[in-house]
Amino acid sequence: MQTVSTLFINGQAVAGEREAFPVINPATGEAFAECPGASPEQVDAAVAAARAAFKTFQHTPDAELQAMLHRIADLIEAHADELAQLVTLEQGKPLALAQMEVGGAIGWTRYTADLKVPVKVIEDSEARLAELHHKPLGVVGSITPWNWPLMIAVWHIMPAIRTGNTVVSKPSSFTPFSTLKLIELINQVVPAGVINIVTGEGGIGRAMTSHQDINKIVFTGSTPTGQDIMRKAADNLKRLTLELGGNDAGILLQDANLDKALPGIFQTAFLNMGQTCAALKRLYVHESQYDEVCQRLAAIAKQQVVGNGLEADVTFGPVQNKAQLDLVVELVEDAKAQGANVLCGGEAQPGNGYFYPPTIVAGVSNGVRLVDEEQFGPVLPVIPYSDLEDAIAMANDNVNGLGGSVWGSDIEKARSVATRLESGTAWINNHAEVLPHCPFGGCKMSGFGVEFGEEGLLEYTQPQLLSISRG
Ligand code: NDP
Repeated sequence: MQTVSTLFINGQAVAGEREAFPVINPATGEAFAECPGASPEQVDAAVAAARAAFKTFQHTPDAELQAMLHRIADLIEAHADELAQLVTLEQGKPLALAQMEVGGAIGWTRYTADLKVPVKVIEDSEARLAELHHKPLGVVGSITPWNWPLMIAVWHIMPAIRTGNTVVSKPSSFTPFSTLKLIELINQVVPAGVINIVTGEGGIGRAMTSHQDINKIVFTGSTPTGQDIMRKAADNLKRLTLELGGNDAGILLQDANLDKALPGIFQTAFLNMGQTCAALKRLYVHESQYDEVCQRLAAIAKQQVVGNGLEADVTFGPVQNKAQLDLVVELVEDAKAQGANVLCGGEAQPGNGYFYPPTIVAGVSNGVRLVDEEQFGPVLPVIPYSDLEDAIAMANDNVNGLGGSVWGSDIEKARSVATRLESGTAWINNHAEVLPHCPFGGCKMSGFGVEFGEEGLLEYTQPQLLSISRG
């Protein structure tokens, strides 16, 4: 597998000035390629290139920006196979899911291309015409995680370019290659300096968040890193979109159709091996259905074929990195020590890959770490409730507030529960469904700001009121 082994700064492929670092294939536990290491000076160079490009790029006519994004989508489409292979190699997910990720990247790029930046007429009177316009912010720093590396880079970069900003991208050091390839492709379309990429661990991200010439950081990742970014952003009042961790609850109502609900619950809890910010991470089930639901979820889990995502028939890949695997092991062992009943899985597989089979844990409740903390892995704790009010209280008893769901047949009843969830999104009979036209974001410690749709687009802009006096 050929991997892009250069950074891109000011439209040029450049070598990293720091030592290259190995990138591990989580299915084998072995390095498959080396990623260039950028120096802090290269971060400065990337920001300077983006700043210089912004001078003219901000004035690009709308139709040209839209056409650029469609040309980028064409290029992603033309390189879809290579990108999907890269995603599986570096991230671990089964190839079919990586192909879906590439499909999502194309769809999101095209949808964002077609979005319009609105002009709102606030007043049109004899006294004045007042219009609210939206102007680009300047240089946007995009810092992305390792779970959906290509798609999340697209979520950050496309609305930034669509609104006339320039970008410095920094992918996770665990999964840099699909983003490096994406930036190589975007550079074939946009003027030099509009999109730049620097790679490297912790220090490179920090060099960006404290950089005085970056106007906005869009970040997806952990809450502690988001807090660090927010502190640094204060120096030059950077705009922020922070999409942080989640510990989404799902409440199964007694009238739910289990034949329909349970496959959906399994799918959305274990999406991407559970490594999805808005996956269903805690399930509350009425005590009258508890044993049946646990057994049926375990039966679905046992059907999964765990293995290397590049092999045909594999439906369930590894955890992306060793630290994450260790966290999953720690949380499940802690639950076991507190008397939890592990119905399937529950042990890391021997060998070099980071495999942990889909695991259903019964006999736990709030107060156990596996329930209270974001496990971000292939484990679903199932918690019994006797009274719906208790279930709602337990669902909300968490510092996070990204998503939540209610599963039931009586939609009005489900709606009355869903609207009481403390979450940025409340799904009914679904979970983890993100769509390019639906604003998505968190509350509480899950962050703030939204992505997607017109609201998401406007996060990359600065409002300017144009007031024309007619007096
Ligand atoms: P981090 O938040 O540490 O990393 C995410 C990104 O931020 C990476 O690109 C990383 O770069 C960069 N980064 C790390 N530290 C800083 C910093 N101080 N300033 C600026 N950028 C920084 O997540 P982890 O990979 O360590 O995962 C830890 C936990 O985060 C998981 O267990 C999970 O709970 C959560 N998570 C949530 C995700 C989500 O979608 N909301 C996605 C991934 C993880 P580099 O890796 O190169 O150091």
